[in-house]
Amino acid sequence: MNLAVVGGGVNGVMIAWTLAKRGHAVTLFERDTLMGATSRASSKLLHGGVRYLENGEFGLVKKALADRAWWLAHAPDAALAHPLPIVWPIYKGARRGRWLMKAGFVLYDLLAGSANLGRHRWLDRRSLAESGDGLKPEGLAGGYRYVDGQMDDYRLGLWAADEARQAGVTLRERAAVTRVGADGTVVVDGETLCFDAVVNAAGPWAETLLKDSGLSANVALDTVRGSHLVLDRSLSQGYLFEVPHERRVVFVLPYQGRTLIGTTELRQSPLDPVECSAAEEEYLLALYNHYFVAPAGPADVAARFAGIRPLIRSAADPNRERRDYQFTTHGRLLTVFGGKWTTAPSLAREAAGLAERACAP
Ligand SMILES: Cc1cc2nc3c(=O)[nH]c(=O)nc-3n(C[C@H](O)[C@H](O)[C@H](O)COP(=O)(O)OP(=O)(O)OC[C@H]3O[C@@H](n4cnc5c(N)ncnc54)[C@H](O)[C@@H]3O)c2cc1C
Repeated sequence: MNLAVVGGGVNGVMIAWTLAKRGHAVTLFERDTLMGATSRASSKLLHGGVRYLENGEFGLVKKALADRAWWLAHAPDAALAHPLPIVWPIYKGARRGRWLMKAGFVLYDLLAGSANLGRHRWLDRRSLAESGDGLKPEGLAGGYRYVDGQMDDYRLGLWAADEARQAGVTLRERAAVTRVGADGTVVVDGETLCFDAVVNAAGPWAETLLKDSGLSANVALDTVRGSHLVLDRSLSQGYLFEVPHERRVVFVLPYQGRTLIGTTELRQSPLDPVECSAAEEEYLLALYNHYFVAPAGPADVAARFAGIRPLIRSAADPNRERRDYQFTTHGRLLTVFGGKWTTAPSLAREAAGLAERACAP
């Protein structure tokens, strides 16, 4: 079959690669450059998402843990994906107590099954002090250490794109699709091209493309910006901190010799510029300074970046919204809603099966 994929983020790339491996002729259209949008602005974690357990997303966590293993097994070198120890420190008065956390980590280990990267364990405050990372000791009871995956999202995504190219996918960058049709048509640069089926994997812009094409869906996206800061400081391991007086958590992670802090959650239109605001920078620095002895200020920020999560609209609070993905079909057109970076392999397999069914006359 002759198929088109719209969107060159991790989901579009993985769908195109999967379809090509299944013997189809595939053309991928990316309006800008491959892996240039959300997929290079992530927290760089290949993870099951331990915190999604408290939202009851057990199925998603299990799937993501299996996908985490897939990426770690297939990434061509450790610079692109490797295991990362992360500590969730517990301070006096924490919203989530030690035994609740214990239950969560036991479940996380169980859901990982044979793909577990290392069972969780409790570290007392002395062991945490020995890390040398400079956590504030006042009120620190200890913390749970667990292991997830870390990636270079941009380079790992480009590796997958290269694999897709070698499998026969035609990758067309700077090719904005202005319209898709239920009849398998794609309009690019004013030219209408016909395919047996089309997959709209435009991430946060998938719903906009549908609307611009005069199509509606019974799934809606909530587009939620998340920003990160990079500090010119090293760190021995990752940390996951509760944001004081909020349900949210924020990661502070070692990344390529520096420290990555993120993220925030602010609803925004996908049509507005995606940038880290001054208020977000202040918020993330305040979180860092709440937990670390050596304070950081604006002068310590080496870089900042932002992306928009394509979340399925499902709750009033973006923090509680589902992180899973869903598909809609209009004739020969399949649209992807949502999807984490980590779950791109599972998403691609399901999308490929649905796209093949959409080809059937
Ligand atoms: C702050 C933040 C942190 C995150 N952290 C993690 C994490 O640590 N781990 C994890 O697993 N997930 C994480 N995620 C989620 C993950 O990054 C995204 O869900 C994933 O990257 C989405 O990929 P995508 O391919 O669907 O979208 P995108 O990467 O945005 O790709 C869509 C592409 O479609 C293109 N496009 C749009 N419209 C058109 C058009 N009309 N024609 C042609 N091309 C078009 C865009 O240019 C873009 O390149 C995070 C997300 C954010 C925002």
